[in-house]
Amino acid sequence: MHPLTRVRTFALIPLLLLGACAMQPAPTTDSDATAAAQVSQARPTVLLVSFDGLRPDYLGRGDTPHLDALAQAGVRAWMRPSYPSLTFPNHYTLVTGLRPDRHGLIHNSMYDETLGQFRLSDREAVGNGAWYAEGEPLWVTAENAGLKTATLSWPGSEAAVRGVRPTRWFPYDDSRSIENRVDTVLGWLGEPDATRPAFATLYFEHTDSAGHGNGPESPQLRAALREVDAGLGRLVDGLRARGLFDRVNLVLVADHGMAEVAPGHAVAVEDMVSVEEARVVSYGQVVGIAPNAGFEAQVERKLIGAHDHYDCWRKGDMPARWHFGTHPRIPPIVCQMHLGWDAIPRAGLARREGMTRGSHGYDPAAPEMRAMFIAHGPSFRSGVTLEGFDNVDLYPMLARLLGVTPADNDGDPQTLLPALRDGVR
Ligand code: AMP
Ligand code: ZN
Ligand code: ZN
Repeated sequence: MHPLTRVRTFALIPLLLLGACAMQPAPTTDSDATAAAQVSQARPTVLLVSFDGLRPDYLGRGDTPHLDALAQAGVRAWMRPSYPSLTFPNHYTLVTGLRPDRHGLIHNSMYDETLGQFRLSDREAVGNGAWYAEGEPLWVTAENAGLKTATLSWPGSEAAVRGVRPTRWFPYDDSRSIENRVDTVLGWLGEPDATRPAFATLYFEHTDSAGHGNGPESPQLRAALREVDAGLGRLVDGLRARGLFDRVNLVLVADHGMAEVAPGHAVAVEDMVSVEEARVVSYGQVVGIAPNAGFEAQVERKLIGAHDHYDCWRKGDMPARWHFGTHPRIPPIVCQMHLGWDAIPRAGLARREGMTRGSHGYDPAAPEMRAMFIAHGPSFRSGVTLEGFDNVDLYPMLARLLGVTPADNDGDPQTLLPALRDGVR
């Protein structure tokens, strides 16, 4: 089958409509005008932007004029993250429509019998496609359908997944300035059809970092919000200057929210289970525990059930609404910290003394874990506010916008239909 046959025919309708309403003056010899005319003929690029840890209730407080304007002119809602409400699991859910229990990125820190240890700081693991192979990210589906994609950056996008990478991708580099990230993406979107990506991503960690460091109500968080909002302003100005603002579908999301962790609200993991009894595979808010041989029954007796600041389950007995507990990478026992509490190695407790911080990784049903959703562009209706939805539902809509057949997923394709204009639905 030719890859292009996977592109759905209905997706050509908005393409034709756009072509019809984007009549340009007769071409001149000016190469800019020629490039602009070429751009105008094509399907709108989908630009998916992640603002890590950006809570929907951060909007409208005076720090985010550009996010507010797009939310008002387009579609706004909020998303319930998938369990666990952490960065890698949820970024991969957003681009696969699969819950972490199915796509296999079950935590930012995990262990696999064959692949060994995965940590965000381990560049080799983060870039190893074997960790991601149970899901098919949208850029892979799009590339296989003959479309061009570009990522800057997206968790998982620096690995070849099932042998395919975005046409353009960059290793994650948190020292790359907001302006540089925006200008790079603007460069892509201004290219002629032949090279311009149909799907592009952009990522900002700033609101997550500031939220962790000082909490969601801190001045540092507000400063980070203003910085990334200014970056969005630069993006919108750049699109307008190139005549592209109304020809790009902007989808602005977060992966999860952020909750305040008050001074002293931390438990030492060594007090949950001893080094002799078990290996702690992940800590923070979702504590994964693998009992050592011979200690299984003792560890279960000690942990399973309710505790002052956390609850523990055998992996197969976790609450059904979390859709979590079958993947082989999930250790036998999982403890979930209560909202606003962390579990960290005892050595870290002193360093935190007196500090207000922020964390996520709590029950996705907590309002503090909600993630922002804003959509704006030619395929979206204007001035629409939708109910909150599960973040697995984003993927089928993105696939529809690109006109590619979505891979098998956990999302409901109906959820976001009310966000779309008639010709796109
Ligand atoms: P967390 O708050 O632990 O769930 O993870 C958020 C952190 O992930 C951010 O502070 C980023 O620095 C980091 N991060 C985001 N993308 C990547 C990536 N592609 N590779 C490694 N780390 C990343
Ligand atoms: Zn995050
Ligand atoms: Zn974070």
